Amino acid sequence: MRSAIVLGSGMVGVATALHLRRRSWSVALVDRKPPGQETSYGNAVIIQSEALRPYPMPRDWRSLQRIATGRTNDVRYRMATLHHHLGPLLSYWWHSAPGRHDRISAAYAEIISRAAREHEDLIGEAGAGALVRREGFRVLYREQSAFDAEVAAAEALHAVHGVKFSVLTAHELKQAEPGLIDAGLGGLHWLEPWTVSDPGGLVAAYAKLFERSGGTIVHGDAATLTERNGVWSVTARDGRIDAEAVVVALGPWSPNALRKFGYRIPMVRKRGYHRHYAGGSTLRLPLRDVASGYVIAPMKNGLRIITGAELAMPDEKPTPVQLARAEQAARQIIDLGRPVEAEPWFGTRPCMPDMLPVLGPASRHKRLWMHFGHGHQGFTLGPVTGRLLAELMSGETPSVDVSAYRADRFEG
Ligand SMILES: Cc1cc2nc3c(=O)[nH]c(=O)nc-3n(C[C@H](O)[C@H](O)[C@H](O)COP(=O)(O)OP(=O)(O)OC[C@H]3O[C@@H](n4cnc5c(N)ncnc54)[C@H](O)[C@@H]3O)c2cc1C
Repeated sequence: MRSAIVLGSGMVGVATALHLRRRSWSVALVDRKPPGQETSYGNAVIIQSEALRPYPMPRDWRSLQRIATGRTNDVRYRMATLHHHLGPLLSYWWHSAPGRHDRISAAYAEIISRAAREHEDLIGEAGAGALVRREGFRVLYREQSAFDAEVAAAEALHAVHGVKFSVLTAHELKQAEPGLIDAGLGGLHWLEPWTVSDPGGLVAAYAKLFERSGGTIVHGDAATLTERNGVWSVTARDGRIDAEAVVVALGPWSPNALRKFGYRIPMVRKRGYHRHYAGGSTLRLPLRDVASGYVIAPMKNGLRIITGAELAMPDEKPTPVQLARAEQAARQIIDLGRPVEAEPWFGTRPCMPDMLPVLGPASRHKRLWMHFGHGHQGFTLGPVTGRLLAELMSGETPSVDVSAYRADRFEG
């Protein structure tokens, strides 16, 4: 039987492990935490079938000026640590040019359009249907120009991909969400995305399914990974694990784990914060407040406010300025209640400079596989790219052309 160690039990690692088990691999899933406790826990809970074009870096001077002068809550940076991010950011800028972004979006659409179907398969088998709502999410606008621009973009997606949405007046938005005090100029309802009341719980349900299918979950540190005579090993709490193949699915920690093997992988690290609030009103569906750059989502433990992007390395101390601004803005539209946690959560969107995940064999080590960099939509994409990687590892023809995602594209 073929054997693999999968490092990382977020959405990406768990889905990879499941798809390998389905192909009869012997699989040990290794993490220093229980499944789904990091980025895959803290996100904005949306399985984003509408996100057919990945987020480009803004290139117009007005947006750049707003970021540079701190006049938007979407993006934040710290001057003292900006130099850590410059290389990946320049590459992100280059790939975000309209023609390149169109080509990248065509590759991205291939996987996003399959994502919900792949989740459906796992949700059914895992018996996790109660965690998922299939009613889309809404967006609230305060500026007519932003409203018009996003409706035009939605119409273009509808024309090309058949994506479904409806435009809501302020009155209609308020009727749909009676908890809102203020519905701005109205909004947009993306009708097809799914949302999850407990994203970490969904990953945990997939991980239980993996165990039921004969897989093993092991507590261990990816830093102990070694290779000797074609055998990959990690030291886990209960002893050493050996396998013929290893998959690095460590989300934002992946580039660091690969450095000791000589791979220098650039990553744009976009931190986000969240906090839950209880005791006030609630919402029926997640809502994105465009003018103030946050999402607010009904969860099992209250309303979760999720912020935009802060350029920060994983070990930098938290500076939840965007969360404070988002909370202030959210209190204008809904009775938020009190914070549930003493401190906000934070985590990193693992974004590649070309906005596409990394999926494939390492160039200089046999049976070392890379699988990370799913950026803003890794919760959505884990099951579909998990299947693709398992197909590749098993010598099958992948169900999607994976050349755009190959792991060696950042070398040289
Ligand atoms: C604020 C925010 C909002 C988001 N909103 C959405 C959304 O609405 N929809 C969407 O699709 N995506 C969203 N994303 C993106 C998505 O959450 C991520 O792309 C996805 O969770 C990445 O999954 P992963 O499995 O690659 O990483 P992770 O979930 O972070 O998993 C990596 C695992 O590696 C483990 N690990 C790390 N280092 C070690 C080590 N040394 N030894 C052992 N284990 C280790 C960690 O414990 C962790 O379990 C959001 C992200 C953020 C931050």
